[in-house]
Amino acid sequence: MVYAPVRPGRSLPPVRVNLYSDTQTRPSAAMKEAMMRAEVGDEQSGDDPTVNALCDRMAALTGKQAAMFLPSGTMCNQISILTHCRPGDEILAHKGSHIIANEGGGPGALAGAVVLGLRGVRGMFDSATMKGALREKRRNAPPQTLVAVEQTANAGGGSVWPLALLTDVLSTAHELGLKTHMDGARLMNAVVAAGVTAREMAEHCDSVWLDFTKGLGAPLGAVLCGSEAFIDEAWRWKQRLGGSLRQAGICAAACLYALDHNVDRLTEDHANARVMARGLAQVPGLTVEEPETNLVFFDTRGTGLTADVLADRIRQVGVMVSTVGPYRVRACTHLDVDAAGVELAVQAIAGALR
Ligand SMILES: *Cc1c(COP(=O)(O)O)cnc(C)c1O
Repeated sequence: MVYAPVRPGRSLPPVRVNLYSDTQTRPSAAMKEAMMRAEVGDEQSGDDPTVNALCDRMAALTGKQAAMFLPSGTMCNQISILTHCRPGDEILAHKGSHIIANEGGGPGALAGAVVLGLRGVRGMFDSATMKGALREKRRNAPPQTLVAVEQTANAGGGSVWPLALLTDVLSTAHELGLKTHMDGARLMNAVVAAGVTAREMAEHCDSVWLDFTKGLGAPLGAVLCGSEAFIDEAWRWKQRLGGSLRQAGICAAACLYALDHNVDRLTEDHANARVMARGLAQVPGLTVEEPETNLVFFDTRGTGLTADVLADRIRQVGVMVSTVGPYRVRACTHLDVDAAGVELAVQAIAGALR
């Protein structure tokens, strides 16, 4: 079977506003300059000074002992699961989480672990829900070893786990003998939106990572953080999966550049998302979820059009969004989308429905 490309798009007009994802950014000229100047070495041998600098910086940022550079966020999640779990283990995570829906069945295929999907509003759950999913420790029950949270919760609407809820869920998990993992693909969006440090958010996480390709503008790279012992063990999986790199400093330099220049400005993306949500809320038939960060989700049911039909129509005028359900659309702001682009997108959507 041949799978369709994520976004088939030949012979379409050029894209003017790309709200498909915050992964669609192109590295800026200044970022490429930083990459060209990077000092490099053999990453697999621990000799790449730029990768080491990035890892030190990320360990400090998240308050962990150690960090590891990886090509992608998916690899951060999968290596964390492989390191924390054994075949047959059960992981607790929200039912809409990326590890369940978007990683090709990785937990089952690679670690032999099952993910139990928990319910909860906006991609979050509380400690009562988590406790309700715990099984009696019996020989015939799968060992439940890991709780995973997403900060921000992507399919939950780019929502931010409030610190009190996060602390309650993760510290309760620890009390119950479970390990804790944070998929922090958009952790810095949560940090700037909530005004809470990454260190505070990650305090009760045994593993946490940040993606540099989600709104931070880097072409690739994610950093996984945890204790010395966790990262040591995780290195074996990095090696096994072919995630050990060579002169990766050229990419780490882009990530360091992103930390210096592209974090504080995430507030602009959040402001643009709010403006877009307000504009879309004026369009008859659309139901818009209140954005907390850079992801704007809206429902097309009231227009009589499916999400795909609407997306195809606005693509004809150069506006690109993603669809995440028969009637659910996601529009994502990032550093290559400005206020004018947001306005154009709102007009295109209103026009397509007129
Ligand atoms: C994008 C994303 C990932 C995967 O990151 P990649 O770098 O695309 O592999 C994992 N979790 C969440 C919540 C994401 O949004």
